[in-house]
Formats: sequence, structure tokens, C-alpha cells
Amino acid sequence: MINLNEVLAQVHKEIKEYIGKGKVADYIPELAKVDPNHFGMALRLRSGEEFSNGDADLPFSIQSISKLLTLTMYIQQVGLELGDRVGVEPSGNPFNSLIQLEYEHGIPRNPFINAGALVITDGLISVFKNLEDEILNTARRLSGNPTVNYDLSVAASERMTGFRNAALVNFMKSYGNIVNPIDDVLDAYYHHCSLSMNCLDLVRMFSFLANEGIDFNGNRVLSFRETKRVNALMMTCGTYDAVGDFAFRVGIPAKSGVGGGIVGVIPGVMTLAVWSPALNSQGNSLAGTKALEVFTTLTGRSVF
Ligand code: GLN
Repeated sequence: MINLNEVLAQVHKEIKEYIGKGKVADYIPELAKVDPNHFGMALRLRSGEEFSNGDADLPFSIQSISKLLTLTMYIQQVGLELGDRVGVEPSGNPFNSLIQLEYEHGIPRNPFINAGALVITDGLISVFKNLEDEILNTARRLSGNPTVNYDLSVAASERMTGFRNAALVNFMKSYGNIVNPIDDVLDAYYHHCSLSMNCLDLVRMFSFLANEGIDFNGNRVLSFRETKRVNALMMTCGTYDAVGDFAFRVGIPAKSGVGGGIVGVIPGVMTLAVWSPALNSQGNSLAGTKALEVFTTLTGRSVF
């Protein structure tokens, strides 16, 4: 039986030279303050056993990993069909790109690029009276950690410099693909991106993705079919315009965030989370991607 503590220690050792390489996200000023030399990794097996290494218990800004949570809530409330408001194709473009939206008439390619996530957030605002509370409670319940919170200084920092997201929402509103007031959508979006969680919180929160939709308390979060589709979307759209390279090197469904976190899933086996703040040019953690690549190589586990 493979010793997963040893594997994680070996991964850490092998990727040490990559830690701090790349660039922390500085378009959100508050994220530019984070020390790029952190590295943490955790995994949770379907059986409930957990393993971790490095800064796995240090909270960080989960940013776009929150889009996995809001998509889950959207599927719970509205259903699996994303309808004609959001597609399910990889974009091949950066996560905050505007260009595709114009020639595709305000319909984002998928729910993980910023435009698509903003439409999902808009859809959730139409369902919940107080979406920010609802998201926070869901994050706390699914992670089993009642201290999980928004980092309001990160949310405020992003609001001050979020001109691109404001452009995306305005543009989509002009096509009728945003229903609620623009400021409400941006506010809820900046809040969920600012969720502060650690690698262990994340492997617990998304354990249902490796367990056919059932969370670590035994409660059903999504059906098997819905879970399969969320994992498929992660595989094809979760790491933006690096998704082909990520599948090629790492070989598992994953969702990244510009805080330097990545959540990965080996369906039926385990959920993984890794954090290292310095990013590659596509906005994915450089050392984190490398760590997942080494992990799947050492263990021989991937979806391929
Ligand atoms: N909040 C960030 C943004 O909207 C999220 C981007 C990301 O993590 N890729 O730009």
C-alpha cells in the first residue's frame, strides 16, 4: 500500500525549485501582498482518510475556486441545464477575456471563466434573498469549518480595480444575459471570490466530487449525473486557456484560482488541494500545477 504522507513529502521535495517562480496576482492589490513562497497540499480519500503537507492549514484567497461552489449551488437550485445563458465549451481565451463575448452575443463559453461565473451569480441572486449569507453558510457546512469567512479587504480591493469584470457584466446586460442590478452581481461575485479557506477545508468541501455527489457527512449534494458533469466541466474548462496543457501534464479535473489554489478530483478516489501563490502566465499556480503533475506521476493515478 502506497504511503501517501511519503508521496506528498516527495512531491514537495521535487517541486521545491518551482515555489516562488511565477508572479502573484497583482491586479487585485490585496493579493499582491501575499508571500509567494508558500506551498501547501492536502488530499482526502473517499474513505475519509486525509493527508497533508506544508502550509495545508493556512487560509488563502480561493478566488475562482469559489466558482465551483456557486455552480454547485446553481445546479441544486435551478438544475443541470445551463440553458441558453452559459455554454459548456472551453474558451481557449484568458479567464477575463472580453473578445469572445462580442461575437458570441453575450453568452459566455462556460461557467468557470469570469463572464460565465458572473451569469451563474446573477442566476443565484434571483433565487436567494441574501446570496452572500447563503454562499458563506454553504461553504461552512460543506467544509465542516464554521470559521470560514469572506476576506472583506480582498473583496474591497477587487471592487476598486475590477474594471474588467464591470465591463463583462455591463456587456452581458446589454444582451439581456444579466437580470439583476450590475452592482449586486459584482458585489456577490467579489464576495465569493474573497472566501478565505485552506487546503484541508477545500478537500472536505469538495469531497462530494470524488464520492458520486455525497459529502463527508453522508449528505447528498449533487446527483451522480450532476457530479459527473461538474467534473467534466472542470476537466475541459477549469484551468482556462491552459486546460489542454493541464490535462496533458496532470490528467485530472481541476479548478484553479488566482490566489494560487487548485482543487483537483480523481472521481471515486480522492479530492486534492494545493496552494502556492505565484502564478504562470495563464493565471494558474505554477508550483501547484507542477505538484499535481508530480503527484499523478508518482501515484500512477489520473483519469486516463
Ligand atoms: N476574482 C478574480 C477575478 O475576477 C478571479 C479570477 C481567477 O481566480 N481566475 O478576476
